Amino acid sequence: MNALPAREQQIHILLVEDDPADARLIEIYLEESGFGDWLIDRAQSIQEALDQLEEQDYAIVLLDLTLPDGTGTENIRRIKSRFPDQNVVVLTGFDERVFGMEAVQQGAQDFLVKGDYDENSLAKTLRFSIERQNFIRRLEETQKIARIGSWEFHPDSGRLILSDQVLALTRPDDTELKDGMPSVELNHLLRRIHRIALSGREVNLDTRMKIPGNGERYFHVQCRLTRTPINQEIVQGILQDVTDRYQTEEMRKSRDLARKSTEIREQFIASISHEMRTPMNAIMGLSNVLLTGSDLAGEKKQMIQAIRDASDILLGIVNDILDFSAIQAGKIQFREEPFSVRSVCRNLEQILAAKVRDKGLSWKMIIEDQVPDQLIGDKLRMSQILFNLLGNAIKFTDAGQVALHVDCSQRTRNKVSLTFRIEDTGIGIPAEAQQSIFEDFNRVKYQNKTYEGTGLGLAITRQLVELQQGRIYLESQVGVGTTFFVHLDFAVEQTLPNGHAVMEPVRSSEGAFRGTILVVEDHKMNQLVARKTLERQWPEVKILMAENGQVGLELLERNDVDLVLMDLQMPVMDGYQATQAIRRHPLARIRQVPVLAMTANAYVSRDDQLHEKGFTDFVLKPFEPDQLFARILQYAPIKTISL
Ligand code: ADP
Repeated sequence: MNALPAREQQIHILLVEDDPADARLIEIYLEESGFGDWLIDRAQSIQEALDQLEEQDYAIVLLDLTLPDGTGTENIRRIKSRFPDQNVVVLTGFDERVFGMEAVQQGAQDFLVKGDYDENSLAKTLRFSIERQNFIRRLEETQKIARIGSWEFHPDSGRLILSDQVLALTRPDDTELKDGMPSVELNHLLRRIHRIALSGREVNLDTRMKIPGNGERYFHVQCRLTRTPINQEIVQGILQDVTDRYQTEEMRKSRDLARKSTEIREQFIASISHEMRTPMNAIMGLSNVLLTGSDLAGEKKQMIQAIRDASDILLGIVNDILDFSAIQAGKIQFREEPFSVRSVCRNLEQILAAKVRDKGLSWKMIIEDQVPDQLIGDKLRMSQILFNLLGNAIKFTDAGQVALHVDCSQRTRNKVSLTFRIEDTGIGIPAEAQQSIFEDFNRVKYQNKTYEGTGLGLAITRQLVELQQGRIYLESQVGVGTTFFVHLDFAVEQTLPNGHAVMEPVRSSEGAFRGTILVVEDHKMNQLVARKTLERQWPEVKILMAENGQVGLELLERNDVDLVLMDLQMPVMDGYQATQAIRRHPLARIRQVPVLAMTANAYVSRDDQLHEKGFTDFVLKPFEPDQLFARILQYAPIKTISL
């Protein structure tokens, strides 16, 4: 069954005409036009028309300009001022055609000259007026969405016609729009830009206006002088509220600025840390060398010990700042590599032994048997967490014991949850400070003693734990002691098919070394530190010194070298290039030599790419002598070691 064609909607007209003959003629024309279904109401005066418009919606008002209670454009003004959106077409006498044009300027859609139209032109004019009115309404809707308003200024009469949108955008919410008056600020702006437009220049600018109740708003304004078909000058303009876009743009700018300044800060910190580490390497290295010498005694030894301790603290601060800035920049990455938890703990035990001894404390370390040894994770970060907590435990304990206890709270075949407990019998942390000490730069103030530090250690530690989905908390009692708990999950390294676990070579630094070490380092101070440190430890070691990668390669070719200590940044040929050349060397003896990167830059040293770039491992400058020796013994060929 076919649907019936939709019945065309009736077009409701208010015909305002006092001459019955003219009115009748229009009715006849419209009936005959076949251009729609017209429903015509009549009014004979302006007053009557206004009353009817109050009662009823009309698609068109067809308005005679000569009525008993009004003539000319006065009629249209009276209707438009009460019903600004009303579609009006005016009828004029033959002699009053000029009124027609004026009426259009006053807001009429069109005009018809009596006696000059037939049924078709009448109907068409009316239909088109409706279409135009609809079009204007849609345009206004669009402008509303785009927050655009428009206006017209007639310089000869001084008349200003503002669209509702201009008023809505520029006036406080609570003012009535109907009066069509601009706000003081808008008036000010318009006067300024009309002057420019009238001088023949186009206006295209961004500006802002304070709108009471709506804050400061940003506008884009365009305006220019045009001419009507009857050669009248009109200034036309549009104004768009661009506050949202402006604010997004401002936000983007400040985000970019923040990103840029983070980058600059990181670069600054990285290079400062590099610059600081190099001289510190010399201070620490040389005081180490002096301290291990037997020719030093009494006060001098104490003073050098003090230099060594102070630079140790300074180095700790530099490292903390580096880490802190890396965490803030979201730059911390955790390695997923097999490591031995027992070897990490034993290593720490060694490093901290001297401090524990110096303070006359006792030390206990218990790693429960059920803790699997081979885990997957970041051993450097693991040591850093424990080092910070154990370091604090020793620092804040003047008598008694510091202990590290490792237990496993949960275990499946592939995963394990470990609990590290760091206990001390130190000064304790007051209850009210127990949460805040994990925040950046937060420290407890003590009345009669000061402890060195920056207050960054625990903030970094917590971040390192939490970034690995772990948990850290503490229990403490003032005067009794403190226990920090760290829970961390690890994947368990599976044993290899041949039944051996991946073992990390654990070797102590005790062992004599008689081989040849090539040190490639451009810095004279660092050369001296490396030479003295190694010679003091192993009097029989042979040391070759090269000031850049190229010299290093030549020495490698001419000598039988057991291990290379390679600086990274050097003139002529840097450490990366030299190591690449070593790994590609035609001689197997050279290709296979262990190369340890020496770097003062903690970022670079944690760079996974060091392995990819051919380095066997790295040592951080300033050297911790025991670590340096242990690394050398770990990688140097076994034949050169005698115990
Ligand atoms: P720093 O040690 O550089 O001051 P931390 O962030 O490592 O910074 O520690 C913050 C504060 O927490 C310390 O200054 C100290 O007051 C307190 N604190 C940390 N660990 C202990 C501890 N084991 N015993 C007592 N107080 C501690």
